[in-house]
Amino acid sequence: MPTTSHEHDTLLARRQRALSPSYRLFYEEPIHAIRGEGVWIYDAEGRRYLDAYNNVPVVGHCHPHVVEQMVRQASVLNTHTRYLTDKPIELAERLLGTMPPELGSVIFTNSGSEANDLAVRISRLVTGNSGIIVTDCAYHGTTDLLSGLSPVTGLPTGPGVFTVSLPLKMTDAAEFRVLVRGALDNMHEAGIKPAALLVDTIFGSDGAVSDPAGFLKDAVDDVRREGGLFIADEVQPGFGRTGAGMWGFARHGVVPDIVTMGKPMGNGYPVASAVLRRELADAFGRHQRYFNTFGGSTVGCVVALAVLDVIQNESLIAHAAETGAYLKDGLQNLCDRHDVFTDLRGTGLFLGVQTPSGDIAARIVNALRRAGVLIGAAGRGNAALKIRPPLPISRSDADYLIGTIEDVLRKDIEGA
Ligand code: PMP
Repeated sequence: MPTTSHEHDTLLARRQRALSPSYRLFYEEPIHAIRGEGVWIYDAEGRRYLDAYNNVPVVGHCHPHVVEQMVRQASVLNTHTRYLTDKPIELAERLLGTMPPELGSVIFTNSGSEANDLAVRISRLVTGNSGIIVTDCAYHGTTDLLSGLSPVTGLPTGPGVFTVSLPLKMTDAAEFRVLVRGALDNMHEAGIKPAALLVDTIFGSDGAVSDPAGFLKDAVDDVRREGGLFIADEVQPGFGRTGAGMWGFARHGVVPDIVTMGKPMGNGYPVASAVLRRELADAFGRHQRYFNTFGGSTVGCVVALAVLDVIQNESLIAHAAETGAYLKDGLQNLCDRHDVFTDLRGTGLFLGVQTPSGDIAARIVNALRRAGVLIGAAGRGNAALKIRPPLPISRSDADYLIGTIEDVLRKDIEGA
């Protein structure tokens, strides 16, 4: 039965009563989502929206192989890592098989936040230092510690946290190195030594700062020379999104000390992890035990294995590269013809289109939602459009996306 707008309003009112006001809904006209399939989300009135926003359903909403594996395992056994079971081991082996050989040990968590929190904890423990460098629009998670490492939230940075102000376009790799050098110098002045440089390797919340590929490497070397580690936050770029391999750090020709991952890992099921150099895992394990009740659950591991199967069987990394390049060409064409698009960044299926202001970006995002396409905004002042569809998006879906953006620009932005 179709949901009437009265039902929509009632649900909204119930939500406002029952859920904390700290929650925010997307869009001026919120979507009452009831079903997802592939790259489509359906609302209560049966209308479908092209999902060009969500990186969590990386292999597509409700992928049948993932759902089937989840249901099958849930009916057999779902327990934790204190029993000897094969699934967490199989998943750890599969993940390590996608990483450089230096990365040799896995710790499972439930969320990207838990993985980052653990990575910072390990880096401080192992180096004996406290300083952490992040970008000034970074987002790394929800814990108290990570709020202090997520300046994009507007919350104050935590003790020992130093930021670098990332330019949206870098002329060369040396530019990032100079910025990190500055943060290291500020640390020295404060009498602090670096424990880690922590960055999202596609710089999603900074507005998708992707180029030039390789710009991380020299800065990472400098941090290491001063005793710090490099933590690659792969929550956004991981699992093939950049089209340049499984992990975003690969584009930068650098091997992290710790890699954190989450969101797409379970295609919507909560499973996440930190993957680290063997010697770091050994040093941490000598000092501390780590048990996470649900991290590494049997079902979570089976789901993550199923996601890896689909990425491989459907060649989604190559697909992300090809369809991403196609989509980027289409967006470039729009940039060339519409002044409101001032810059295009990103790689694979993580693309950022710069607009002059957060207000204009919000108008475009809301007009697209009304036209049946879901995207978001990110970066400084939320002025960049964030386009990040599930990886199986087809060329004809990409055409629909580009065509709808152009319609919206003509009718709602330029014609307004
Ligand atoms: N790191 C990055 C780069 C993220 O985008 C996010 C989530 N938006 C997180 C960490 C935190 O992940 P979670 O919400 O799973 O805790």
